[in-house]
Amino acid sequence: MSRYTAKMIQVNGKYKVESRVICEEVLGKPLPSNAQVHHVDENPLNNKNSNLIVCEDQAYHVLLHKRATALKVCGHANWIKCYYCGEYEDPNNLYIMKRHRLECQSGFHRKCRNLYLRAWREKTGRNKTLPTGEQTSEGRRNTVN
Ligand SMILES: [Zn+2]
Ligand SMILES: [Zn+2]
Repeated sequence: MSRYTAKMIQVNGKYKVESRVICEEVLGKPLPSNAQVHHVDENPLNNKNSNLIVCEDQAYHVLLHKRATALKVCGHANWIKCYYCGEYEDPNNLYIMKRHRLECQSGFHRKCRNLYLRAWREKTGRNKTLPTGEQTSEGRRNTVN
């Protein structure tokens, strides 16, 4: 995420983040403390109404940034990055890891998932060849104790 330099303004003698003050004026009520203001053009100094989106929480804010990045990189806000090869892809063509919350959702190309699982098995699996010297049962016993 880009460096965040919020523009501050003074309201009744207190310094406040300008974008929040503008949103509160538009809403006519204070923003909840966990609400965040997103800048559509990602320029924190552009506090025009049309550039501001109120996010109910950090998670939604992160999601907006992910979508903005996806749009910039591949032209589709809803596409997600393959966890293995890093290419953006239509989620319909990906194996999606469903247990993840929406804002940190990631997926794999089917091919990439196989490669990833194979690499993971090789790294952690039992059928891995042990380094020389640890292959005997004696050697193994020694390392355990
Ligand atoms: Zn933002
Ligand atoms: Zn991939």
